[in-house]
Amino acid sequence: MTSRKPVASEIAMQGIGVSPGIVIARALLVEPGGTFKKRRISADGSLALEQSRFRNAVARTEDKLRQVREQFAAVMADYATIIDTHILMLRDRMIFDRTLEIIAAEKINAEWALDKALGQVEAAFAKVDDTYISGRFLDVRQVADRIFCELSGTEMLPEEIDGKLILVARDFSPEDILHMSDRAGFLAEMGGETSHSAIVAKTLGIPAVLGLKDVNGRISTNDLIILDGVTGLVFVNPQEELLEYYQDRQRQYQQLHLEVAQYAHLRAETSDGLQVRVEANLEIADEVGQAFAYGAGGIGLFRSEYLYLSALDNPSEELLFATYKDLLSAAAPFPVTIRTFDIGGDKQFMAKAGKSSGFRSKMEKQWSSEANPALGLRAIRYCLHEPVMFATQLRALLRASSFGCLRILFPMISSYCELQQVKEVVAGVQEKLRSDGIPFAERVELGLMIEVPSAVAVADTLAREVDFFSIGTNDLIQYSLAIDRGNEQVAHMYEPLHPAILRMISQVVEAAHRAGIEVGICGEMAGEEKYLPLLLGLGVDSFSMHPPAIPYIKRMIRQSRAASVERLARRLLACSSSTEIRELLQHYLARHYPDSFPVDNHFHSD
Ligand code: PEP
Ligand code: MG
Repeated sequence: MTSRKPVASEIAMQGIGVSPGIVIARALLVEPGGTFKKRRISADGSLALEQSRFRNAVARTEDKLRQVREQFAAVMADYATIIDTHILMLRDRMIFDRTLEIIAAEKINAEWALDKALGQVEAAFAKVDDTYISGRFLDVRQVADRIFCELSGTEMLPEEIDGKLILVARDFSPEDILHMSDRAGFLAEMGGETSHSAIVAKTLGIPAVLGLKDVNGRISTNDLIILDGVTGLVFVNPQEELLEYYQDRQRQYQQLHLEVAQYAHLRAETSDGLQVRVEANLEIADEVGQAFAYGAGGIGLFRSEYLYLSALDNPSEELLFATYKDLLSAAAPFPVTIRTFDIGGDKQFMAKAGKSSGFRSKMEKQWSSEANPALGLRAIRYCLHEPVMFATQLRALLRASSFGCLRILFPMISSYCELQQVKEVVAGVQEKLRSDGIPFAERVELGLMIEVPSAVAVADTLAREVDFFSIGTNDLIQYSLAIDRGNEQVAHMYEPLHPAILRMISQVVEAAHRAGIEVGICGEMAGEEKYLPLLLGLGVDSFSMHPPAIPYIKRMIRQSRAASVERLARRLLACSSSTEIRELLQHYLARHYPDSFPVDNHFHSD
């Protein structure tokens, strides 16, 4: 095995490692036309070929637009008009003729020529002193993106290495990731450690690096890539020696994975007998088998919104009921915590051509009018804003409750009154089921997510009203520190070890325990080994995480002593800065868990 470490000149890119694992594979750029927007000089003979590629791509785009138009014209007259406009734009002189002219004049490929023509159109629009007209450039770009898509679709897919590919794009939606079939790995410009794409990648065990600058400019399809999902390092076309170094690291990683897997089915208990629950976060019900294979003691968070976000239409009560029933039956006798739909904010539909419905467009319209989506109509606010949809989900949940151990969780509760409103809706649905003679479990635990600072401040009052708390640290950190969790520009300021966060968690745990209820954590912090001693010491009762992390966290728990981590938590709570907290914690980790933390640097610096 080589001991060579990468030298600085070979570190091609540094991003944020959001889902662990090392992948060595070829890149495939999947952003529309991304790869082929690069300039290619064409030989004289291939100019006609480039022009016909462009003409064919435009024709295919037009066909597809017409199909979409026919499909939706009846339900959405406005949409049909927009498509008509787009079809006209396809043949607009400034796009169509100009691209053909540029191909001929500059002897370049169709993508580069189209990009150039687009630039000229953009410059022309920018000169117009009318915001409505200049805003129409967006339509032109959308049309051009469709042509880029068709152009890249005409290219051969690159040769696969071991059947694996690393997908590269500016952004991937959670829905895109759910549909990634080869599961080798992916890279993107957008997103941070707790963005929803990162969460889905971790759950599915797909290594990923986000927050990379200018991926389209720096990576081309077919480049050989090393992706390190732990450190966030990405190497493009590495030299042989570096490749060997990473092949070794890949083997070590797989070996560690096998060793840690032995902890999957052991009890989550400290060496001095404190037992906690380690559970799984799921986005899709089909993953339940995988969660138990990793040793989950239940489902601590089922993000029910994915069923809505990937549907073409509002899911029916029967579909929801069947999904929840299957999930509860598969998990029984273990508890399943299903969160009511947390949509809005950054959890929105992936805009897909040809995939829209009244349900989708209504929501999209609502959201597009929001200046601050994270502070807008999301989570429980959206549930209460759409009472029929909310009641439908609650009916389906309660009907399914007879098939297992259901706990219902409400996201983003911010006040006592809001909670009362929710409980009234639940009581109303239960009453209706009773009067309809439909069976359901009379005793279903209700819990709320602590995700906004106001809920922390009144946690004592809220604790008297529910059966359990679940702390959503992803949002709690976002809302407390005013850091957009999906914005790579401020990702370095997203600080789980901020003294404010530690104090809030401690305050919530105390309030819950005083009221005699359980408190868990289901944000990403729960699945990170480096935070485990702190959270355990603060008195958290259950930890819910992406399934592959479960054996690692169980191993940490079994190597911990309750008395020792409690002392650690008290010391950390007394610190005045995140730097101080990090240093103390780092020292503790290296001393008490040398297998997991052999070297002394597991945190990014401030
Ligand atoms: C959280 O905010 O910590 C959480 C678990 O919810 P989500 O990540 O789905 O917003
Ligand atoms: Mg949340």
